[in-house]
Amino acid sequence: MAARAGARTGRGRTGRRVITAAVVGVALAIVAPIAGLILLVAAVVTNIVGVDSGGMQTGGTVVYANEGSTFVDTNPLRNAWGGYQNGQILAASLCPIATATGQQATCDAVAAFANLNAAYRQTFGRDITVTDSYRSYADQVAIKVAKGNLAATPGYSNHGWGLAFDLGGGIDDYDSEQYAWMKANGSRFAFFHPTWAEPESPDFTKAEPWHWQFVPAAAQLGPPTNSAGTPDSNRAFGRTLADQNKGWTGDEWACLEQLWTAESGWNHYADNPTSSAYGIPQALPGSKMATAGTDWETNPRTQIIWGLDYIADRYGTPCEAWAFWNRHSPHWY
Ligand SMILES: [Zn+2]
Repeated sequence: MAARAGARTGRGRTGRRVITAAVVGVALAIVAPIAGLILLVAAVVTNIVGVDSGGMQTGGTVVYANEGSTFVDTNPLRNAWGGYQNGQILAASLCPIATATGQQATCDAVAAFANLNAAYRQTFGRDITVTDSYRSYADQVAIKVAKGNLAATPGYSNHGWGLAFDLGGGIDDYDSEQYAWMKANGSRFAFFHPTWAEPESPDFTKAEPWHWQFVPAAAQLGPPTNSAGTPDSNRAFGRTLADQNKGWTGDEWACLEQLWTAESGWNHYADNPTSSAYGIPQALPGSKMATAGTDWETNPRTQIIWGLDYIADRYGTPCEAWAFWNRHSPHWY
């Protein structure tokens, strides 16, 4: 965790002798600027390196938990915005955060942050403080050099994706009302607090109240619970997620589209009358989808995420699953 500079006190003492005061005064005149410089350097170093000692993501499943909402990101690396490498996002593809001087992130994250900030401002009467956002690869290397094992390996910082925001102004304190507000409202704007950054994180060095992430897949799927989704909107969700989570586009998307049309018509309430198969991917039984979220009965997003992983694990690709489905009668996969 970031070390915080202690409060500086400036209580003077009445000098007993003028000559002593004069000597001290001269000494201070020499030392104070140097001390000030040291303090300044320390503050800069703290700002640069004092965050995200463990803020790495190396793939696999990341769980983002908010009050009333849990988002499971099954393959966060695929969510790298625009297909750029970590820390290598072209400057032209980054956008400045209008309410935070010098801060920038990917443009979709910035757009979502503006909406988040507007809601926050309505509650607290001021903008969200942003202390860090996008970090280029070069920045990550510099931090690694300065901080060693306490810094993320260059190329693996969450901040290199342009999706992570370090927030202050109270949000950087687990016990504040600002933090509680973010926990309750962040997910409405696709901003999540990763479970690795929670207070009960197994590694206390990763307990980072200030670290929040924009999750592109969540943003494109609308509100956390999409129980009102139609088959058409579910199909659109599926297409986005198949691309983001698995890289399945073109023919692979066409196979997936046909497979789940045949299975459920992309209806997330589809309930097989002769078996306990349920939902868009027709998981058998439906409760298997609980591994992707407790809302598997009502949330098409949860069902799609589970189904994509199922196909990847069992068949490798949607076209392999579709071929298998067509070879069997009655059809199943
Ligand atoms: Zn961070």
